[in-house]
Amino acid sequence: MRPSISVWRVRFPSVSANFPNVECEDEAVHQGVARDDPRRAIPRTDSLLQSAEVVAARERLSDRVITARVRAVVERARRGELAPGAVADAVAADLAAARPSTQTPVLNATGVIVHTNLGRAPLSHAAVDALLAAAGYVDVEMDLASGARSKRGSGTRAALVGACPAAESALAVNNGAAALVLATTALAAGREVIVSRGELIEIGAGFRLPDLIASTGARLREVGATNRTHPSDYAEAAGPDTGCMLKVHPSNFRLTGFTSDVPVRELAALAHERGLPLVVDVGSGLLAPDPLLPDEPDVATALDDGADLVIASGDKLLGGPQAGLIFGRADLVERLARHPLARAVRIDKLALAALEATVDGPRPPVPSYLHADRDRLRARTSRLAEAVGGSLVAHDGRVGGGGAPGVPLPGFAVRLPSSVARPLRTGSPAVLPRVHDDAALIDLRCVPEADDDLLEQAIRAALRES
Ligand SMILES: *Cc1c(COP(=O)(O)O)cnc(C)c1O
Repeated sequence: MRPSISVWRVRFPSVSANFPNVECEDEAVHQGVARDDPRRAIPRTDSLLQSAEVVAARERLSDRVITARVRAVVERARRGELAPGAVADAVAADLAAARPSTQTPVLNATGVIVHTNLGRAPLSHAAVDALLAAAGYVDVEMDLASGARSKRGSGTRAALVGACPAAESALAVNNGAAALVLATTALAAGREVIVSRGELIEIGAGFRLPDLIASTGARLREVGATNRTHPSDYAEAAGPDTGCMLKVHPSNFRLTGFTSDVPVRELAALAHERGLPLVVDVGSGLLAPDPLLPDEPDVATALDDGADLVIASGDKLLGGPQAGLIFGRADLVERLARHPLARAVRIDKLALAALEATVDGPRPPVPSYLHADRDRLRARTSRLAEAVGGSLVAHDGRVGGGGAPGVPLPGFAVRLPSSVARPLRTGSPAVLPRVHDDAALIDLRCVPEADDDLLEQAIRAALRES
């Protein structure tokens, strides 16, 4: 039952104060409109602004946005695109659908686990809970027992070191690129960073590591050839002007054929002989080796092999929030943490909380999807294929996000006509299939099993529309 206008005025005495000028504008618009013009029947904006739907929407949207949306509907009626009698319902429908963020949750049916265009890693429930708890006031820089200021991020640091005991210390920053910038700045600003030509990669969307490092004021000293770099190349380049040696995992491409690079162990020995630190950027954030991805470097192994600092992303294979992780020697981590640039690349409290819960909580979605049980996948896919009238086909998932390029993750998909792809993407919930070979392929690897029914309904709706 809709409350009467007088109830609204009592409950929301400030309605008109919040929507200034509305009344006089309406008057102005009605001026000059003939008395028998049907547009006279269009409800006034100020009365629309007092509807139950507007009040409900004020939980989600600002007064400014609500007024603009209501006016846009009224405008459609004035242009004759909407009958005057349909305006109130159109306002209600428009506001009911409006969200304060334009980001739309998507069911990822592509089989690509770390999907760059879908925000990389989906968080675990534990991480989401921690993130929500951190959204309010939180003791991120306070010791509640003593009431004194405490070190920001110490819980997350402890979690990271606990999960990767090969590291003496750890630091989380805004993202992987920031971690690399901070490390090269703190260790080599005004000096040289020695790096192999085979590792000067573009990490996506036009961001090139060489440009990134050059922007820090460190000079890149490129050694070796694109396909082959030898220990002597590093040795000959090292000198009094060297700040550090850097080894970068060329995550998103593979060099095959006549190639060679210098393994971390050998490069560490070479760097340490000259008193230089070795920084290794492993990229994907595996803390320990994963048998499914034998060619993917991991933090623990790089540290065991002698790297002084290891850099990784938090939102690739680790499965956490966007973050740049730095593991390694306590003195060097401290040097980075104290550098003025550290403040500019500081991680926010939400990501700190989510990162800690990712590391100390139950297995997050990314590693779960990576290790999805094949029989279970087949059973779910087969059930869905039958339910929606598609065919069950073999389909390889991918790690994505620049990780493990070319490594197939054997699984299954429901094959549907490609015409269903668009209604799937624009439906509710939005579903992103893989469009390939003139078909829309629905891969369940990255769909939470609890959402299987939701996905089935979304497919049925999209099939009706296509
Ligand atoms: C992904 C990646 C980066 C960049 O990390 P972001 O978290 O995306 O900033 C840097 N280096 C390597 C090797 C990577 O794979």
